[in-house]
Amino acid sequence: MAASEIFERAGVRLIWRDGFAYAAERQKFENPPPEDPVTLVVKLQPESETARYGVPPECEGIGFPSGAIVFVRRKDKNDMAPAATRLAYVMAHELAHILLGPNAHSIVGIMRGTLIQQDWDKAAQGTLGFTRSQARQIRTWIVKRNSLP
Ligand SMILES: [Zn+2]
Repeated sequence: MAASEIFERAGVRLIWRDGFAYAAERQKFENPPPEDPVTLVVKLQPESETARYGVPPECEGIGFPSGAIVFVRRKDKNDMAPAATRLAYVMAHELAHILLGPNAHSIVGIMRGTLIQQDWDKAAQGTLGFTRSQARQIRTWIVKRNSLP
């Protein structure tokens, strides 16, 4: 999956689990084992749900500390990238907000506030990603989380 490749270039391996299957599996235990401290949750929502989250309809996603929401949009002739590419990059961007915080926008790379055509061209070539310093911050977040008592 493309979102995994974006993180992989930052030195991070994502392991994807289906949320429902994961929850069902944990319910089998009377005392479920503690959750991996670096578990990130991403929820896909139809674009019609933007209003419910109080964001403008053109919003692609939101990254809360508790998890990321990605809005799945209908195909549009003005789309700057194929739907799958867009979904992957928006997902990686919003997941990164969990790791880097709400003010993590940068002037270059995948964390630009609004991705422009030039970014999508890079995405198509597989060269749109995190900056070196963002990659370092992400790895640091994981190390810190894992060492919490
Ligand atoms: Zn953002």
